[in-house]
Amino acid sequence: MNRREAIQWLGAGLGALASRGLLAAPLPKGAIVRTILEDVSPDRLTGTTLFHEHLSMSRTDGKPIFYDDIGLMVDEVRACATDGVSCIVDAGVAGLGRKIEALRTIAQRSGMLIVAGGGLHSKTDFPQDVFRKTADEVADDFVALAKAERWGVIGEMGTGTDLPMDPEERKGFEAAAKAHLRTGLAIITHVSDGCAQCALDQVDVLEAGGVDLRRVVIGHLNEIPDELTAKSIAIAKRGANLGFDHSARPGDPRIDEYVRTILAVLEAGYEDRIFLSSDFASSKYLRKNGGPGIDMTVTTFVPHLRKAGVNDAVLHRILAENPRRLLAFVPKAA
Ligand SMILES: [Zn+2]
Repeated sequence: MNRREAIQWLGAGLGALASRGLLAAPLPKGAIVRTILEDVSPDRLTGTTLFHEHLSMSRTDGKPIFYDDIGLMVDEVRACATDGVSCIVDAGVAGLGRKIEALRTIAQRSGMLIVAGGGLHSKTDFPQDVFRKTADEVADDFVALAKAERWGVIGEMGTGTDLPMDPEERKGFEAAAKAHLRTGLAIITHVSDGCAQCALDQVDVLEAGGVDLRRVVIGHLNEIPDELTAKSIAIAKRGANLGFDHSARPGDPRIDEYVRTILAVLEAGYEDRIFLSSDFASSKYLRKNGGPGIDMTVTTFVPHLRKAGVNDAVLHRILAENPRRLLAFVPKAA
C-alpha cells in the first residue's frame, strides 16, 4: 500500500467509525449555529466553513483601509460561495478595529452565513479598562457583548510570547473560559510567533478553567518553526483542536511541510481535530487584485492535499464537519 492508498484506506476506516457514532458524537439536541443575523440549524452549514478569517478591520490611525469598501467585501465573500463555502467565521475583536455593523451588512448583501467572534486579541490592543478588571468582570463583559453583538464563537483570544503567560493575557483566557461555561460558545485562539509552549500554556489555562478542550481550536499553528508535526500532535493529545489557519498563503515556502503535517495528523487518528483557514487580512489576496480570494484555503491549499491523496470524504470532514461541530452549541441563559 502506498502513502496515498494508506490515507484513503484510513479515511474510509474513520468514516466507518464515524458512521457507527464512535468518532464524532451527534450534535446535541437543540444545537444551533449563531450567525451575525440569526440562529440557524447546523444543517445549513453544508459546505466549507472557514473558521478563522477577518472580514472587517480598521486601522488604529484612522486612515482608510480596503475593508472600508463594503461592496468590495460583499463581492469577495460572494465569490467564496461559488467555491462551496457556506460559512465564514470572522475572528475579529474590537481591539482589531472589527466593526460588527460591517459584518451585518456583508452578511445581508452576500447571503453568506457569517459568524462573529469577539474577545481580547493582544495585550497591546486591550481596551484600557480591562487592566483594572478581574477575570470575573472581564467574563461579564464577554457575556454581555456576546449577546449584544451576537457572537457565535469566543476569539480570537490571543497571547504574546511570554513564558509563563503574561498575567493580563492569562486573565483574558480565564475570562474566556468563564464566558464559555456560561454561554456554550466555543473558543478559538491566536498563538504568537509559532510559540508552541505558549500554545500548551493556553491549553493549560483553558483546561484549568473547566473548558472541554474539544470546544477549543488552538490557532496559528503553521507558524511553529520546527517539529510542526510533533508539536501539533502533542496539542491534539491534550484534547484540543488544531488550527492550521495560515495554510494557504501563495508563495509560502512551507506549504509542503503543512501538507505532510496534515497527513501525519490524519495517520495519528486525529482527523476530527484538523481545522483549516487562512486568517485572511490583506488586500493582496483579494480576487480583485489577482489573488486567490478570501477562501484561499479552498482555492490554494486543498489542491495540495488532494494531490497528496486526501480523498473527498476526508476533506469534507475537515472543511465542513469539524467546524460545524465546533460552532454548534445549545444556547444557555448565561
Ligand atoms: Zn491571530
